[in-house]
Amino acid sequence: MSKCVCVLAEFRAENFRRVTFEVASEGRRIADVLGAEVCAIVVGHGVAEKAPELGRYGVDKVYVADDPALENYLPETHVPVIADMIKKCDPALVLLSASVDGKDIGARLSARLEEGLVQDCTEIVVENGKVKARKPIYAGKCLAWNEWADGAMPLISCRPNVMSCLPPSEEKKAVVEKVDVSIPIPRSSVTGLELDTSGRVGLSGAEIIVSGGRGMKEAQNFALIEELAKLLGAAVGASRAAVDSGWRPHADQVGQTGKVVNPNLYIAVGISGAIQHLAGMGSSKFIVAVNKDADAPIFSKADYGIVEDLFNFIPVFTEEVRKLKSTCS
Ligand SMILES: Cc1cc2nc3c(=O)[nH]c(=O)nc-3n(C[C@H](O)[C@H](O)[C@H](O)COP(=O)(O)OP(=O)(O)OC[C@H]3O[C@@H](n4cnc5c(N)ncnc54)[C@H](O)[C@@H]3O)c2cc1C
Repeated sequence: MSKCVCVLAEFRAENFRRVTFEVASEGRRIADVLGAEVCAIVVGHGVAEKAPELGRYGVDKVYVADDPALENYLPETHVPVIADMIKKCDPALVLLSASVDGKDIGARLSARLEEGLVQDCTEIVVENGKVKARKPIYAGKCLAWNEWADGAMPLISCRPNVMSCLPPSEEKKAVVEKVDVSIPIPRSSVTGLELDTSGRVGLSGAEIIVSGGRGMKEAQNFALIEELAKLLGAAVGASRAAVDSGWRPHADQVGQTGKVVNPNLYIAVGISGAIQHLAGMGSSKFIVAVNKDADAPIFSKADYGIVEDLFNFIPVFTEEVRKLKSTCS
């Protein structure tokens, strides 16, 4: 049997993040090709009881570092602990999420372990026993394949919402081993967390996103987008033009200098489809564009296009969604 495939789990608000299940499932697929086991590393506080759950997504064994000092992510405490745990399990490769924390951890691990990292991958294959990872570059205009030298341990962060989860196997539980770790004393600490209590769906990891662009004309008109998003249980996004105009916060910006999202459905309203915007949402599973200009570049990327003034279309569409929802419930 080959060395294991190691998956780094992300834990937030007393649960594993969905992307961890995607990464674990991808780890299982790779391990099956290599004839290897999947091990996971979980670092946090109050995580041990949840750890067996990773078995549902193909993890065989979970190494857990559970300590109050590890409750909130801090590079100074988490990265040395994770690096030590990776050294102990000596895996063939390490998979983690290309989330904000995952990208930070990946870069630091790469330096600490002196291993090559490829961030934000959208596909991983094994050819003749060698791992190759594909990632979009140049704002998504080009796809680059990466491979590692013999004897290297690939570090790969996976773009959220691209790799599909295995159907969860309810009865399968992973074996859990608690690991004693030495936690460095940090020079800074998290003293409190202020959680967003607005009830709004966050952009990262959202299944549906409704985004508005310069075509919305002014901040108040985003009420149309908000209303539709609320009905669909969607997050609200924006183009940079809308953000630069001060209509939306930067946290809502989708694109090269905003967030990269991969929802099942992306509705682009009054957005032209500049390459920098496409870089953030081009891999969405279904794209619907509403634009009054039939030649807008967004239509070359969209699965469904509505050539119409958004101020005519969105209220009617919202009303139809409302009717549909009331007949279904
Ligand atoms: C280095 C760099 C980084 C960048 N990063 C980003 C990024 O992260 N995200 C991003 O979005 N952009 C980014 N940009 C900016 C990008 O190039 C575009 O300028 C921006 O995406 C345009 O936003 P928009 O589509 O909302 O506006 P526009 O390009 O002005 O398009 C507005 C669209 O709305 C349509 N419209 C107008 N009125 C209506 C109506 N009543 N009904 C229907 N349709 C209507 C128009 O036909 C038009 O197609 C970046 C640029 C640079 C140089």
